[in-house]
Amino acid sequence: MPIPDTKRILLKLSGEVLMGEQEYGIDPEYVARLAEEVKAAKDGGLEVCLVIGGGNIFRGIAGAAKGLDRTTGDYMGMLATVMNALAMQNALEKLGVQTRVQSAIPMSSVCEPYIRRRAERHLEKGRIVIFAAGTGNPFFTTDTGAALRAAEMNCDLLMKGTSVDGVYDSDPKHNPQASRFERVSYDHVLSQNLKVMDATAVALCRENDIPIVVFSIREKGNLARVLSGEGVQTIVQKDN
Ligand code: UDP
Repeated sequence: MPIPDTKRILLKLSGEVLMGEQEYGIDPEYVARLAEEVKAAKDGGLEVCLVIGGGNIFRGIAGAAKGLDRTTGDYMGMLATVMNALAMQNALEKLGVQTRVQSAIPMSSVCEPYIRRRAERHLEKGRIVIFAAGTGNPFFTTDTGAALRAAEMNCDLLMKGTSVDGVYDSDPKHNPQASRFERVSYDHVLSQNLKVMDATAVALCRENDIPIVVFSIREKGNLARVLSGEGVQTIVQKDN
């Protein structure tokens, strides 16, 4: 994927990739592996913003299905993303990479509050900024949080690192004939309800013309491959 003009990216990692082979929670060894990939992207000259989901620990909607109040569940989900952010910060700092965690829900003893101008300064100084707690509001997702921060921080790309290697026309787990898009428009994703990110996140990227690169972070070295144009991914962008 030729992305020559990319200076600043927002990398969104689903919470589930932090589980490694576990069923739940955080596998520190796997997080350390992910941190190496993130470091390599930064060492390659990029400014890196990170957003990590919370699905490996808690999802509000799952709690609601079991009788928990949806908003309470969503706040619990947002707190889960803070735990993940701290785990990633720890792993990055072990590699000597300076990072700051900024939370959309202020918790001053744990991390910084989200302040856009301050985040900007951190990036200029070569630090990685991890945005935690999604948007800070229930009924949203960390995908939308990622799209929002990507727009606010003027990122050139939103890279979604997940368990599948791109966007398919149907679910590849259930349909062996499913085929992967190399490129697909925001409009097609939205009208066909393709499983990339939630519609709010895709619409926000469309509005701000931020391409979304969907790729698998499960294979080692894949982030670097995708950034260098040798990887497998789908790019969601406007119609040419
Ligand atoms: N969440 C929320 N508002 C946000 C972001 C996240 O309420 O702006 C909650 C929501 O309950 C969500 C959970 O945090 O299910 C974990 O985030 P998400 O499901 O996006 O994580 P991922 O699927 O990326 O691991």
